Amino acid sequence: MAFTKEVYKEFEDVVGVENICDDPSIMPAYYGTEFAAVILPKDTAEVQALVKLCNKHKVMFRPICTGWSGMFPKGIVLFDLRRMNRIVEINEKNMYAVVEPYVISAELQAELMKRGLNFCIKGAGTNCSAMLRGHGHMDQTTSGDDRNHLAIEWVTPEGEIVRSGSLGSADEWFCGDGPGPSLRAILTSAVPPGVTPGVFTKAAVKLYHWPGPSEFPIVGHSPKYTLGEIPANTMARYYSFPSVDKMWQAELKLGEGEICYELMGFNAAMVSCNITTCNEEEEEVFAKMSKEVQGPGFFVIIAGSSPEDFAYKKHVLEYIVKQNGGKSLKTVENPEVEGILMCQCIRISASIRETFRAGGAFNSIPIMGQRDLTIKWAIGAGKAKEPLIKNGYIVDDGGAFFGWGVEQGHLGKTEIFCKYDPQNAEAKKAVEQWQQEQTRRAFTEKYFASTLGSQEDIGPALSNYHLWWQKLVKTLDPNGVSPEGGALV
Ligand SMILES: Cc1cc2nc3c(=O)[nH]c(=O)nc-3n(C[C@H](O)[C@H](O)[C@H](O)COP(=O)(O)OP(=O)(O)OC[C@H]3O[C@@H](n4cnc5c(N)ncnc54)[C@H](O)[C@@H]3O)c2cc1C
Repeated sequence: MAFTKEVYKEFEDVVGVENICDDPSIMPAYYGTEFAAVILPKDTAEVQALVKLCNKHKVMFRPICTGWSGMFPKGIVLFDLRRMNRIVEINEKNMYAVVEPYVISAELQAELMKRGLNFCIKGAGTNCSAMLRGHGHMDQTTSGDDRNHLAIEWVTPEGEIVRSGSLGSADEWFCGDGPGPSLRAILTSAVPPGVTPGVFTKAAVKLYHWPGPSEFPIVGHSPKYTLGEIPANTMARYYSFPSVDKMWQAELKLGEGEICYELMGFNAAMVSCNITTCNEEEEEVFAKMSKEVQGPGFFVIIAGSSPEDFAYKKHVLEYIVKQNGGKSLKTVENPEVEGILMCQCIRISASIRETFRAGGAFNSIPIMGQRDLTIKWAIGAGKAKEPLIKNGYIVDDGGAFFGWGVEQGHLGKTEIFCKYDPQNAEAKKAVEQWQQEQTRRAFTEKYFASTLGSQEDIGPALSNYHLWWQKLVKTLDPNGVSPEGGALV
């Protein structure tokens, strides 16, 4: 729905003529969608004013931070938050940072590393917003973002400003809960902000100790960079195991030992795409590596605060790996390869190679859940990929899945990709069918309930959460201007 001139003017008066657009030749740059308008507010007050106007005119809106994901219906207003790009505070003493939506993780991480600190960065990459929820390489150390958000500033779908926890009561960012009932389940549980209506305008995130350097000695040229030297007291290795169970047992023990800076359940295909610079080389290295590994495995980085701390962590790591029959991959012991992987996985820049490079598109089934159950399911989902590989629909990754334990490892992230050419209609159809069947199987065989499935179907099995959520959204958003972006769990 296009705006009338009068309505457009009301929105324009909030942000200024330079920061609103309904030009049909420009708007398709955003998701190829015909929005009613794209608007770039500069601060919370402007967001609030825009949301109130959306309520007045009953126009739907959706915000984006860095805009990596999301599906947006035609005719809505898009709030592009890129002008809200300030690191508001880095509190070294109380170990939190406060950011606006368009601060990307790379910027925040660079500032933090200068202070010997780091934070949980989404696996999607450091080019994504530092503020939104996600999971990634450091979950075993930092847990996921459902644990890492502290106080939050939120413009509700009706245009009220909510400052959660200590921010509301004491103007401090250190706690997201209380006094009184907590808003955590709405604001920072495993759900939002993919689904929380309204707009998050600032968030405090927890910080963690970073014992490594603030700059990496990068050498080489694009597309092949390497590390001039491995930073002191750090080491990266890939270990493969005789069975999935042995791998999982080692992952649990390492989680309990709390010695890994990062534990990432890469499969061999993911390692090869990260250490190569083109598809041809990747295929070759994957074939070689497939012979080198004895079974499933994971990638580990350890980082010691001192030579003694490093020696202790290395000893524990090698002991646990040995106990479980693990074998270190020689390819990754080569310092050049070790350096590339270490840098990419600390700076979190691996994701694009793993997802888009090979085919141009990918579909995936990502799950947070009880790690042993999701691993068992993923073995079957991997087998179900084999006919697609044989028919040439998807890239050959050996039917692999990947994942990692979160915190001590009982909870975990498990994910499985199919990489394919989006121009190949048959391949696309086969992948979508695989995705549907494996999601369904997860539910019927009681591994987990993916909300990629129908809420009407899985809701009754999960305490009718969907009915509660619908009531909640109706209460928060009586004019229906901020539609939810997905499901609740
Ligand atoms: C290749 C690839 C790999 C990925 N890997 C991972 C991964 O390993 N781990 C992981 O956790 N995720 C992963 N993702 C998903 C990823 O987390 C998100 O795409 C990204 O972090 C979201 O950040 P964004 O700022 O780009 O979100 P956006 O695309 O801007 O927004 C995402 C959703 O949140 C809503 N939203 C955006 N900003 C706000 C706001 N300020 N207030 C309220 N709602 C808002 C949007 O309307 C949309 O529904 C991956 C995605 C891709 C494409």
